[in-house]
Amino acid sequence: MKAVFITEHGGIDKIKFDEVKKPVISSKEVLIKLKAASLNHLDIWVRQGIPGIKVEFPHILGSDGAGVVEEAGQEVKNVKAGDKVLLNPGISCNTCEFCSAGEHSLCPAFHLLGEHVNGTYAEYVKAPFENVHRIPGNLSFEEAAAFPLVFLTAWRMLISKARLLPGETILILGIGGGVSSAALRIAKHTGARVIVTSGDNNKIEKAKQLGADIAINYNEKDFAKEIRNLTQKRGVDVLLDNIGSVTWIKSLSSLARGGRLVTCGATTGANPQTDIQRIFWNQISVLGSTMGNRKEFLQILNLFEVNNLKPVIDSVFLLKDFREAQKKMEEKKQFGKIVIKIY
Ligand SMILES: [Zn+2]
Repeated sequence: MKAVFITEHGGIDKIKFDEVKKPVISSKEVLIKLKAASLNHLDIWVRQGIPGIKVEFPHILGSDGAGVVEEAGQEVKNVKAGDKVLLNPGISCNTCEFCSAGEHSLCPAFHLLGEHVNGTYAEYVKAPFENVHRIPGNLSFEEAAAFPLVFLTAWRMLISKARLLPGETILILGIGGGVSSAALRIAKHTGARVIVTSGDNNKIEKAKQLGADIAINYNEKDFAKEIRNLTQKRGVDVLLDNIGSVTWIKSLSSLARGGRLVTCGATTGANPQTDIQRIFWNQISVLGSTMGNRKEFLQILNLFEVNNLKPVIDSVFLLKDFREAQKKMEEKKQFGKIVIKIY
């Protein structure tokens, strides 16, 4: 089968598009003929090499995908050949104390499609049956491939961890990213007031079209000062910061007393200066989050089904044009998801 893969870590030039072996399934796995996949920033980190994560080469990239069930193992009951499905990228052991408690993303063996095992930028992918779900609503394959990883991540951050409530104010930093734009949609459905930041006025316009109440261009204004002004020095209830070093101190000072800061990443560095006095005196909660559990995955499928929601797709590339797609993501030119069409 045709696939996009790497045989060593490095730059965009290390990505190959060629023939690889088609996966073979076990009795509890499902083989899916992929129709679409979508990019995540994770793909770039996997390509460059993540410290502590060893991959077997050739390694197929990609965590999100949707397609048609080609073959289901003998013990698989939830889907059958011909079903239109999407994938939950998070795979766990099913037996440890965390899995038993329904907290799959806390599993010590937790891993992702495309990160530790072969992913979705291919004609076929295999996955455990627990990770395969029918596509909700009337979503196209491109739309179905565009939302799982980022919506699952944003849902756990806002709903399960920060427990965002109607009428609260949330600040989402860097609205161009996939998790951030998913968080904007979820926060608006929750009934919260949403403030976003971006350094790009086009992205600010798009965020407003998606329902952002206020958008701050951080190249023109200091967002922390602007938050103090906008909230009469009170600060926001919830703040989503995946940026890390560059924003951390300002994020802490943008929170209200009792506020919740939630993070799932640190694109500018993971060891910022911090302010412990502000954290304890203002009783701020700092919440870490990664992906989500299976219940949360079902909750986002319901969110799409009930609200007839469509993910924001920035652009669609063909599988063979994968380098251009990754280049666009690396240069942060996208708003929403970059999708790969696979035929
Ligand atoms: Zn486990």
